[in-house]
Amino acid sequence: MEKNIVIHGAGYAGILTAKKLAKKFKKNDDIKIAVVDKNSCHTMLTELHEVAANRVEEDSIRGSLKRVFAGRNVSLVLDTIVSIDYDKQVLSGKQGEYAFDYQIMASGSKPAFYGIPGPEEYTYRLWSYENDVKLKPQIYNMFIKATIKPHEATKRRFLTFLIAGAGFTGVEMAGELAEWVPSLCKEFEIDRKMVQIIEVDLLDRVVPTWLPSYQPRYRNAWKKWASKSCSRRVWLLSARTKSKSSGTARSPPSKPTRLSGQPASRARILPRRPPA
Ligand SMILES: Cc1cc2nc3c(=O)[nH]c(=O)nc-3n(C[C@H](O)[C@H](O)[C@H](O)COP(=O)(O)OP(=O)(O)OC[C@H]3O[C@@H](n4cnc5c(N)ncnc54)[C@H](O)[C@@H]3O)c2cc1C
Repeated sequence: MEKNIVIHGAGYAGILTAKKLAKKFKKNDDIKIAVVDKNSCHTMLTELHEVAANRVEEDSIRGSLKRVFAGRNVSLVLDTIVSIDYDKQVLSGKQGEYAFDYQIMASGSKPAFYGIPGPEEYTYRLWSYENDVKLKPQIYNMFIKATIKPHEATKRRFLTFLIAGAGFTGVEMAGELAEWVPSLCKEFEIDRKMVQIIEVDLLDRVVPTWLPSYQPRYRNAWKKWASKSCSRRVWLLSARTKSKSSGTARSPPSKPTRLSGQPASRARILPRRPPA
């Protein structure tokens, strides 16, 4: 009897699952495998920061899904799933409905803001190709704006970059940005001392999933970036605040970890609303 397997999402999980199932049921014509994704291309999310900080071209982190599944017993459907009816075993998309016997949810995740006021409204996300292509020109435009502003304080505001979250992604983004800064400064004839990269996290340590013994290694790497690219102005601030979910009382901001540069209390963080 025919069985429909519908995989919702063609990210890393969806692609790998579809390929493995197609291999497993290669000789079984009763098993129909379909992958539904809203995009025709797979984005290598793990490389997003490299595009955002101009290390690689936008196209290098995208691959056609048609090509990924070419020659395999997998149908590709381009649609955005809007709801799932588990009783009727149907996925509903904007373009149509997809009946399933087995459904595999591989539609990814969303950034978490942990109830901290600000990041959700004011930050650029590093979470999808669409976010990425907005973030890169924003960084570049800040250097253009800084160049045309006569006052030093205004220039500094444009050249202050705040990264919310010091997990793997935040840390990688900080590193990529620090690598890009010297060439931007050269291009716009800006003194590197004007540029600041600030990474903020709830915790007072970076990449908390790392073993504590790795922390000093990371701190040293950070100091090296700071001295190379931003003239000793890369900071990690710890920003504990009230958590909406737990309702815990606001604890005073823990002492900023000064990795290098001026006291962190002088850092001024300007919200800048991303364009609609
Ligand atoms: C900048 C960055 C760096 C990272 N670096 C690493 C790393 O070095 N190592 C590591 O292990 N992990 C890293 N990660 C995490 C890793 O990218 C994710 O864990 C991984 O992408 C999750 O894979 P996934 O298939 O579950 O979801 P995703 O890759 O997010 O794929 C979800 C898919 O579902 C589709 N989709 C979503 N909603 C719908 C809908 N309603 N209808 C149709 N389709 C939909 C999307 O278009 C997408 O194709 C990084 C993440 C980021 C953002």
